[in-house]
Amino acid sequence: MYEMRPGPNQHGSAVVWHVTAKQAAFALCGQQLSERADITQDEQARHCPPCMDSFAQLVTSKAV
Ligand SMILES: [Zn+2]
Repeated sequence: MYEMRPGPNQHGSAVVWHVTAKQAAFALCGQQLSERADITQDEQARHCPPCMDSFAQLVTSKAV
């Protein structure tokens, strides 16, 4: 249902992994994601903290 997609962080200074619903244009943190990311260091990118927080809340709410 959710997937990880690389994209610029909220400062645009680095690439991070965002959490996004399938085929959504925006990550959970509100960052807009482009279809094809211009990234060559995906695996070294960190996770987007706001996305991870939102995702954790989603998972928690669904688990109850
Ligand atoms: Zn994010």
